[in-house]
Amino acid sequence: MSREIRVIVTGAAGRMGREVIKAVLKEKDLNLVGAIDVKEIGADAGEMVGSTSNGVKIQADLRKVLENTQPHVLVDFTNPQAVIRNAKTALNHGVSPVIGTTGLDEIEIQELRRVADKNNLGVLIAPNFALGAVLMMDFTRRAARYFKHIEIIELHHDQKIDAPSGTALKTAQMIEEEREPFRQGHPEEYEKIQGARGGEWKGIRIHSVRLPGLIAHQEVIFGALGQVLTIRHDSLSRESFMPGVILGIRKILDLKGVVVGLEKILD
Ligand code: NAP
Repeated sequence: MSREIRVIVTGAAGRMGREVIKAVLKEKDLNLVGAIDVKEIGADAGEMVGSTSNGVKIQADLRKVLENTQPHVLVDFTNPQAVIRNAKTALNHGVSPVIGTTGLDEIEIQELRRVADKNNLGVLIAPNFALGAVLMMDFTRRAARYFKHIEIIELHHDQKIDAPSGTALKTAQMIEEEREPFRQGHPEEYEKIQGARGGEWKGIRIHSVRLPGLIAHQEVIFGALGQVLTIRHDSLSRESFMPGVILGIRKILDLKGVVVGLEKILD
């Protein structure tokens, strides 16, 4: 018989948090025991997502929820400022964080590594929980061995705070592992409008589009003599991230230390 995993969600009233609540409520082995947000305080988490009430109310005080509900896993979809504090608080209460929030920098990840090791717990950080996006990054890594002129275009809804996306940065890091950094484009190119050539990360150009109507999309374009290869992934709804989140919740209790990337926990 599978063990029961007690789950709390931070950012519960946000776009992703609501989807996580819906997904967790559908799984027999997962028990939603707490929901934390700075808004919708007092609302019933089940009813908020159009399901039946399970008695979990949205609360603001993470510490209190941790102490009162004794969860195993915290799922965080908040913002780059809140996530680090939430994850450290969870770890110091013996709870493993599954982090979907993007925008954590290397220093913050190191800090989480330290706190995870101190508490002998696992942390999963996945900039993209959609399986198709993980494959898109994997195919990009393979193509980067043969095509060295590469630009990334990531497209997201206009309420996203950080740019470029965590997925775009992760993709750029994977490209860097496959090719030597070099300057793309004409050696004397210049911008008539600042930013026209996008952001630059170790020679890789990243362009961020923000528009209502979009969810999360990315194109990686490879150019070579006489040919162009485009690898594209589209998340058409936030449900696309949920199988990855649920897998993360189930696997995190068997992990130690900080694991970055959904691909690390796929069989
Ligand atoms: P969102 O709709 O703004 O939701 C975030 C929620 O967290 C909001 O309700 C926000 O309240 C709340 N919040 C802020 N500070 C908090 C705190 N200290 N404790 C608890 N809740 C707090 O954003 P979203 O679209 O759901 O995205 C959330 C994050 O997930 C972003 O970083 C996004 O890039 C990332 N994301 C990741 C994936 C993935 O696959 N890994 C997929 C999609 C999105 P206020 O609105 O009042 O601030």
